[in-house]
Amino acid sequence: MARRKMVAGNWKMNGARDANAMLLHDIVFDAKRYTAVDMVVCPPALYLESVGAALTGSSVQLGAQNLCEQEKPGAFTGEIHGGMLKDVGCAYVIVGHSERRALYGESDEVVAQKFQTALACGLKPILCLGETLEERESEQTEIVLGRQLAAVLARVGANGFKSAVIAYEPVWAIGTGRTASAEQAQAAHAFIRGELANADAKIADSTRILYGGSVKADNAQALFSCRDVDGGLIGGASLKATEFLAICAAA
Ligand code: PGA
Repeated sequence: MARRKMVAGNWKMNGARDANAMLLHDIVFDAKRYTAVDMVVCPPALYLESVGAALTGSSVQLGAQNLCEQEKPGAFTGEIHGGMLKDVGCAYVIVGHSERRALYGESDEVVAQKFQTALACGLKPILCLGETLEERESEQTEIVLGRQLAAVLARVGANGFKSAVIAYEPVWAIGTGRTASAEQAQAAHAFIRGELANADAKIADSTRILYGGSVKADNAQALFSCRDVDGGLIGGASLKATEFLAICAAA
């Protein structure tokens, strides 16, 4: 099946009102040229509403970087419920980014709960999976990816992936300037799709698997031309309009 390409920008904890406005001005202006790719920007939660307003009338969609795992809103100081993200116009939400897993202690189980809550709130989860350098070097890559995916499948089943997106993000490639080779990316993506296919072949075939980790304008094309790579989740390079747009052009 032909899967539509997607490029999502994960701004992480970057941005300011003026800088956002300038960045979005350029992205929105050019977005009309990239009709074959779904473009998404994921700003910090505080800016979701203003970024959403700046995207009005454009095809670029809004995503959040995180959500609370709790099913219902309530007394959870500092947290943001998925329903609130939906309320301010989010279509997508990143779940299980390696920075959340490593720096904020999110377990596979918490990530699975967040995924489930996202679905319940009508959001499309972008589920991040990825191994550390140590895990890759000790040939644990498939074990780790399989375990991270299995935790979510155990909670939502294959049907939970009907609207979801997966992002393969090797931890050693994130923000390091060191990208997985096209062969490494393809092998990991094919493995992930195979694992999902064991649960439901049709859903696996239509699920988009993005690559993330030091994607730049000059390496995007090689990665995106792999059979099982359906676009990218872009960190650092999503903060520069020319770079982000060049990556969209490569998709
Ligand atoms: P990077 O980040 O492109 O800066 O490596 C990717 C990500 O963390 O999603």
